[in-house]
Amino acid sequence: MPDDHSILEIDCEHVILQISNYIDGEIDANLRARMEAHVRGCKHCSAILDGTNNTLRLLADGKTLELPPGFSERLRLRLAAHINHK
Ligand SMILES: [Zn+2]
Repeated sequence: MPDDHSILEIDCEHVILQISNYIDGEIDANLRARMEAHVRGCKHCSAILDGTNNTLRLLADGKTLELPPGFSERLRLRLAAHINHK
């Protein structure tokens, strides 16, 4: 399908839902490319991605961080598991 928005546009909610998989590299190349394109064009999501990286660091320090609305409990658990594997 050659129409631009089938390829380009995923919405913020989709990015947030997939962000832990994105960080873990557990998404396919197509979705990854779409997320990267979205994050480049979306200050909101690029801030969330930065915040998620900060969260990983904070958890590693044994601190907790209040996650922004939209972060699921699943992500919280995945982030914790991510640290525990180190
Ligand atoms: Zn966004």
